[in-house]
Amino acid sequence: MKRLVVASENKGKLKEIREILKDKYEVVSMGEMGFCEEIVEDGETFYENALKKAKTVADALGCDALADDSGLCVEALNGAPGVYSARYAGGHGDDKKNRQFLLKNLEGVQNRNAKFVSCIVLVKQNGETVCGVGETHGKIGFEEQGENGFGYDNIFISNDLGISFGLASDEDKNKVSHRYRGLIDLLAHL
Ligand code: IMP
Repeated sequence: MKRLVVASENKGKLKEIREILKDKYEVVSMGEMGFCEEIVEDGETFYENALKKAKTVADALGCDALADDSGLCVEALNGAPGVYSARYAGGHGDDKKNRQFLLKNLEGVQNRNAKFVSCIVLVKQNGETVCGVGETHGKIGFEEQGENGFGYDNIFISNDLGISFGLASDEDKNKVSHRYRGLIDLLAHL
């Protein structure tokens, strides 16, 4: 089976990408391939960040590399936290703090509409760059519900599933998630 290097060390993302692509690729993380440097995500769009991550790893390891840049966009907050989702409350990757900060910012707000967006970029050694984009829509709950998933999953109530991603099984989330839809879009362009 063909190997695919993913420019991420986010366990939640890697688990999902592995599961979604399990029939097509052996998915390995950049760390498993020996690349452990931090890649600063300083782009203003999901695409810029995904391209930077994929290109950095593809260049460093001399192989094709795929990156997902994703985040949560809340209607009442004009799309925030968006590209800043991982560090919304300050430090990078503190999921609990980010969720609490978001719930606080939405106190008293009736419009809870939100969407997850995933931009997936594959940088190939022949110089080609392929991109896929996926979205999934839902509402921000008023409290955490469930233990599954990662990031904002347990405060995001999926319109497709009618429950929070924190309560959904991995299998169900992977049928409707932004990452699944982004990967399907990317595969269609290969
Ligand atoms: P980045 O793509 O590494 O910049 O980080 C994306 C951030 O968005 C994650 O750290 C999470 O906070 C959030 N996020 C992206 N996808 C998901 C998801 O599927 N569930 C929950 N949170 C997510």
